[in-house]
Amino acid sequence: MKIKNEYDVVVVGIGPAGSSAARVCAEAGLSVLAVEKRAEIGSPKRCGEGLGKPTLKRMGLELDEKWVSQPMTGATVYSPNMKHVRVDYDDVCGWIIERKVFDKWLASKAADSGATLVTRTEVVGMKREDGRVRVSMMHNHRPLEVTAKIVVAADGVEAKVPRMLGFDTHLPLIDICSCVQFEMANVKIDPDRTEFFFDQEKSPGGYVWIFPKGKSTANVGIGVRKPWSKKLAYEYLEDFVHAHPGLKGGSIVEVNGGGVPVGGLMENMVADNMVIVGDAAHQVNPIHGGGIGEAYVGGKLAGQVVVEAIKAGDLSEKFLSKYNSLWWDMRGNKMKKILKLRKVLESMSNDELNWLIDYLKSEDLVELSHGGGLKALATLLMKKPRLILMAKKLL
Ligand SMILES: Cc1cc2nc3c(=O)[nH]c(=O)nc-3n(C[C@H](O)[C@H](O)[C@H](O)COP(=O)(O)OP(=O)(O)OC[C@H]3O[C@@H](n4cnc5c(N)ncnc54)[C@H](O)[C@@H]3O)c2cc1C
Repeated sequence: MKIKNEYDVVVVGIGPAGSSAARVCAEAGLSVLAVEKRAEIGSPKRCGEGLGKPTLKRMGLELDEKWVSQPMTGATVYSPNMKHVRVDYDDVCGWIIERKVFDKWLASKAADSGATLVTRTEVVGMKREDGRVRVSMMHNHRPLEVTAKIVVAADGVEAKVPRMLGFDTHLPLIDICSCVQFEMANVKIDPDRTEFFFDQEKSPGGYVWIFPKGKSTANVGIGVRKPWSKKLAYEYLEDFVHAHPGLKGGSIVEVNGGGVPVGGLMENMVADNMVIVGDAAHQVNPIHGGGIGEAYVGGKLAGQVVVEAIKAGDLSEKFLSKYNSLWWDMRGNKMKKILKLRKVLESMSNDELNWLIDYLKSEDLVELSHGGGLKALATLLMKKPRLILMAKKLL
């Protein structure tokens, strides 16, 4: 595989967002170079690896057993006093996957469609020149330059690429969840269901998850946020594991983590010669932080508009902004509602969360996680004088 000097599209970052954008562009016959700074796509993982069945459907993908670790048939949500609501399904409702396999599988689909993929290749600079973008990279520790008509910034939550072209994707600290995760062995858990633990003191501004990867293995992770957290996410997670009867005797076989953008939705995700997708564009569910499906769908929509722009010979922000409209219609408005809910939940005390869980049924939880049921929740919150103001924010 030889890298050319010129491409229609350069995709930076080969996560779910980059793979989907690269695939759509390559399928339409564009010349595509997708670059990944890490040596191996999907590794190290920075993910709880939860993927819901409806999400896979939205991505337009078929299940492939090779990236499934464990099928799920339900979930349990705990309040601080360990009261809980169970959501049970008759059939499989999602999977804990193996991102190291899944991300490569997605990337292979882009490659099979004709995109050129390279790893150990980091984009270090960009500038616009004669209507194109000059992309500077370190490829296997050697400098390399190519030009592209359009750059797809799919470089994840750190998102330096947009800044290289003068686009600020800055996210306030309150909208970034700091996450740490232990992949654990020899744990005693229910292997068929995910578990979510909410507690403003033990996981401030976030939650703890247990996502089983087998009968006695699981991803156990935590997300916490400023300004509420008083110590490191790692320390909160250690405390949780030591106090949990099924986890405290287990072993940690991997530690990973990273930031998750749980807010800061962007009205505009394009500039001349550039589209921004996935975590780089903060396309993440603000309540649970799930971003695999969001990134893939974002990449797909952006890819479609990039194809149209290149065919029309119009690489302007104005033309590319069609991607903004498509994304906001399909996902953004839903995310905005979920963000409202996140803001209300994070301002509730542990006592209020304990009170709330008594009123929630399994179907309410499912609806709320998709951005529905806000009116019903607001009506419920109005029962508590302190929550009336918050309830109004949901309407
Ligand atoms: C601890 C944790 C748990 C999570 N759990 C879940 C979960 O259970 N379910 C879920 O749906 N989501 C989860 N997420 C979120 C999910 O992982 C992300 O939303 C998703 O990976 C975003 O995809 P992406 O393609 O936008 O970015 P990424 O997957 O982050 O990919 C970006 C890629 O760009 C590369 N890159 C960056 N800069 C450059 C550069 N300059 N040059 C070349 N390459 C570059 C990076 O190396 C990376 O591979 C979790 C996240 C974390 C941190």
